[in-house]
Amino acid sequence: MTTKKVYIISHSHWDREWYMAYEQHHMRLVALMDDLLHLFKTNPDFHSFHLDGQTIAIDDYLEVRPEKREEVQAAITAGKLKIGPFYILQDDFLISSESNTRNMLVGLEESRKWGDPVMLGYFPDTFGNMGQAPQMMKEGGIEAAAFGRGVKPTGFNNVVINDEKYTSQFSEMWWEGADKSKIFSLLFANWYSNGNEIPVEKEAAQAFWKEKLADAEQFTSTDHILMMNGVDHQPVQMDVTDAIKVANDLYDDYEFIHSSFDEYLEAVMNDVPADLSTVSGELTSQETDGWYTLANTASARIYLKQKNTDVQRQLENITEPLATMAFDVTGEYPHDQLRYAWKLLMQNHPHDSICGCSVDEVHREMITRYDKALEVGKFLASEAVESLTASIDTSLFPTDSKPFVVFNTAGSAKTGTIETEIEWKRLPFSQGVPEELYAQLKNETLPELTVIDAKGQAVAAEILSHEVRFNYDLPKDAFRVPFMAIYVKVRLVVTDMPAVSWESLALTVGQNTTSALPTIVSEADNRLENEFLHVKVESNGQLTVTDKTTGITYPNVLTYENVGDIANEYIFKQPEGDQAIYAHDFPATTTVAINTTKIGEITLIQTLMIPVSADETLAEEMKAVVEMRQRKAQRSKELAPFTLTTKIRLEQGSRQLKFSTHFDNQMKDHRLRVLFPTNITTDKHYAESIFEVVERPNGVSASWENPTNPQHQHSFVNVQDATHGMTVSNYGLNEYEILADNTTIALTLHRSVGELGDWGYFPTPEAQCMGEQTVAFALAFHGADDQNRTFHDGQNFQIPFTVAQTSVHNGRWAPKAAYLTIDSSAYALTALKRKEHQTEIVTRGFNLSNTASAPLEIKISGYTPTRCTLIETPHEKPLSAILEPAEINSLLWKKSASVND
Ligand SMILES: [Zn+2]
Repeated sequence: MTTKKVYIISHSHWDREWYMAYEQHHMRLVALMDDLLHLFKTNPDFHSFHLDGQTIAIDDYLEVRPEKREEVQAAITAGKLKIGPFYILQDDFLISSESNTRNMLVGLEESRKWGDPVMLGYFPDTFGNMGQAPQMMKEGGIEAAAFGRGVKPTGFNNVVINDEKYTSQFSEMWWEGADKSKIFSLLFANWYSNGNEIPVEKEAAQAFWKEKLADAEQFTSTDHILMMNGVDHQPVQMDVTDAIKVANDLYDDYEFIHSSFDEYLEAVMNDVPADLSTVSGELTSQETDGWYTLANTASARIYLKQKNTDVQRQLENITEPLATMAFDVTGEYPHDQLRYAWKLLMQNHPHDSICGCSVDEVHREMITRYDKALEVGKFLASEAVESLTASIDTSLFPTDSKPFVVFNTAGSAKTGTIETEIEWKRLPFSQGVPEELYAQLKNETLPELTVIDAKGQAVAAEILSHEVRFNYDLPKDAFRVPFMAIYVKVRLVVTDMPAVSWESLALTVGQNTTSALPTIVSEADNRLENEFLHVKVESNGQLTVTDKTTGITYPNVLTYENVGDIANEYIFKQPEGDQAIYAHDFPATTTVAINTTKIGEITLIQTLMIPVSADETLAEEMKAVVEMRQRKAQRSKELAPFTLTTKIRLEQGSRQLKFSTHFDNQMKDHRLRVLFPTNITTDKHYAESIFEVVERPNGVSASWENPTNPQHQHSFVNVQDATHGMTVSNYGLNEYEILADNTTIALTLHRSVGELGDWGYFPTPEAQCMGEQTVAFALAFHGADDQNRTFHDGQNFQIPFTVAQTSVHNGRWAPKAAYLTIDSSAYALTALKRKEHQTEIVTRGFNLSNTASAPLEIKISGYTPTRCTLIETPHEKPLSAILEPAEINSLLWKKSASVND
């Protein structure tokens, strides 16, 4: 008889913050770590403890007990405390591609300062798994992953249906990524608590093992059985080694050992059967009833997702690119400050944090972290811009003009509006009393002003207004300088500004240009029109949009839908029989807000009458912890006005119709979406996910019972057929659904719920998201072969232009130039940064197609590239001019030896 081996791994799944505030969990972590250090010293049989795959727990402990550093180091060195490979345990889908990357990069680096990390991609509690994880893990040198969700184990008693891609007979399987990278994977088929609280008392132990071994053996493919001794915030089982002795006494045919993932993985990977099944792509519990996929966390507390977008875009697409360019001027890069900002951002990325599924205290602290990270990012960006603008030649502008430089820091050409303030005249406090300086400037009459480019050509711009206000300079080498100044507000549209480029302009005295071109809005019939789109705002507030390139007309665009929601932060559940309320059934009014040859904007106001909340039943059902599917609550009969104010903007040269919707939410327990019927009937669609544009089926699996099928996205979702398609982009709106009609894109704008959900009753009044809310999204169309343009525009919708005023001066850089050039419409840039702690440039991007390769040529003047991995180490693959399907492409750029700048 073969002896089966049972690997007992002690651990605690450490949600850093969740159903209690961070510090409540934190103080318990201190107790756990104290216990562990005590146990390591006093019980030589205690093999090791798995610290949940996240290094931040060490920082959190040492913040309270800095004197324990050496003891922690000794425990790690001795192999007692098993750490890494990640910084935090993230939600894959709600954080950006770069955030997922930095989590591994920082986690591995910090682990290695202590010792050897556990090389296991650890996703025990993640709400589904991203399709590029296999490629990403391999790039980090990690050959195995473990997760608790995403795949349905079928076990020995179930028939495995071959065409079910997301089931596995075993808890062990291969996982193939979008690019065909394969890693070994473990499903915690009986959860990561299957060996929790092992009894020491003999009879209880007998009963425990009888059940637990049978459960595990139903799924395990080898004679190596994994028992996870721990669960959420579980204190360490102090007598686990005694319990193991008892187990060994009870069984002859099993050997029980206190073990680690290192040992277990080595054993199981050497022994897996040849017919182990393979799951592929993203694992989002597709083969379930659809209720507990937890995808509706994408619409819980949308204000968090918007803030997350602010900070991610600031660090990834503004601060890092600007600082990377500025290094060529200063020879300095703010590595430490950026690491600090990234860590603050990533502290908001654990699955219970960014998912918005914690108590209010947790999410309040997140806002502070976002604000801090954003301020660091803004400061570093302004420092970089100051260095850059000082080196850009503005000497061609008139000496009395006010030059300013526009930067497009996005990875592709961008069209959009800039609204900025230019300081026209300044009086320092050293020249007088503030109120007199104020009065003096206030009494000045401004000459007619215009904007010119470096060739002296007038640029179409609107001089909107001006005001006098206090401001100050903080010189690097002297005391602060307060002053009064006249600020002139300028608005202009920039068309097709190349990727990572700048252009110098100046505000100067001169006649503002007038154009003979037609204005964008035709007021008589509520129409916006440019060279690409024709948009009619119908009397009911819906839009009829014609894509002039294909000639196709899309009716009933911008349909607002409101329904009740009686579930929680994790799950959306409409009350039984609840009928949707549509904005187009209520009166609509429109006004023209902007109408020039460059910008047209119509303001649409619709006031719906909607229920103020759910009825009283819901409060009782929540208190009684009635599972959301069993709830009988309805929406209240009491109605109140709910006003949607939509700004609909079209710019000259833009293929995107841009929307900004504002509302003051005073209602509870409801969801607001905007619907875009595509009139394209298809069985699949595309959405931006982590390092991929993922193809997803519109339909659901046979086992799916949830009447909705919510999905995650980053900046866009697309529906297309062979000849044309529609792309809906967004700013921090991560949830969409393709409706059961197989043609309509629904974008969630707002979701109000009153409780956390899950294992008890945790009221979350702030998850109702009361008060003023503004959401932004955009619409674009494409023909047969230019979908990538709409994808780039979708990404760029989240990346504003950077504008900085400067003086008239000589400089070694041209007034208008591109820092890098990318020749590939399929390549989406995610990072332009300096290598961690070093001076080389790192660029990273991915293929917008998972099925087609594409040519790729990137150039940075004065630099020479080689391939590198996600963690910035040399890559085994050589440099290639071809971007493979689903490839994540990282390049390391060294200063060319021959180039003399
Ligand atoms: Zn968790």
